[in-house]
Amino acid sequence: MMNFYILTLFPEMVLQGLNTSIIGRAAEKGCISIEAVNIRDYTLDRHGKVDDYTYGGGAGMLMQAQPVYDACMAVRERIAARRQESGARTEQNGRVRVIYVTPQGRTFHQDMAKELAEEEDLIFLCGHYEGIDERVLEEVVTDYVSIGDYVLTGGELPAMVMTDAIARLVPGVLHNDDSAVTESFHDGLLEYPQYSRPEVWRGRRVPEVLLSGDHARVEEWRLAQSVERTKRLRPDLYERYLSERGTV
Ligand code: SAM
Repeated sequence: MMNFYILTLFPEMVLQGLNTSIIGRAAEKGCISIEAVNIRDYTLDRHGKVDDYTYGGGAGMLMQAQPVYDACMAVRERIAARRQESGARTEQNGRVRVIYVTPQGRTFHQDMAKELAEEEDLIFLCGHYEGIDERVLEEVVTDYVSIGDYVLTGGELPAMVMTDAIARLVPGVLHNDDSAVTESFHDGLLEYPQYSRPEVWRGRRVPEVLLSGDHARVEEWRLAQSVERTKRLRPDLYERYLSERGTV
């Protein structure tokens, strides 16, 4: 069971996006839990304000430190209480990673998803507007992660992207745990092309080898396709694949 806590000003956006299909069913089954925590619930401002102008001038508003800090601390305390109650003396006791999704972070990739899927609890912090007051980031954040070199209006989509990629690696989430093993990036290659019925569609035939029933030949063909496709579409991955195999 892995628990995701997403600190956001737009909890409904996060929940609507993650409560459907495979991830939604995994949450229903109890393989994962996803909680969207509304940062606004923690503001001490009597008008519910959570943002203000930036010191030194400049366009846009900044999320203030206090509500973000209090929301994060409240979640950490709940996690600590749950861990203590369950008596689980795991290595992870006391240490909960807080990921600030930001275009300034390390770029998210499959190996990072695998590493994060080992955690029992993960807290995502979503910025909005111009971002978040630096002082609270310094206090609570353990990881700065980006989903790519472009700027979005908020951290909700990045947190959802990362939650989806991590959650599907948690045992029991995918119908067939093998799916995650054969997919793109698993072994540094893109996945081979796949086909379903009918055998012929608009004059295009399914490759003969896939109908042969010869498992070894199918595997050989798939590997060759993966290598060819990676070389053609992602030469950067292909170079790494070769160097890891000691071929270059
Ligand atoms: N002023 C910030 C900067 O230049 O680095 C950008 C703020 S952005 C408009 C608002 C929020 O969206 C950020 O605080 C972050 O949480 C999220 N965000 C935007 N682009 C992102 C990306 N590529 N990856 C992860 N989070 C992103």
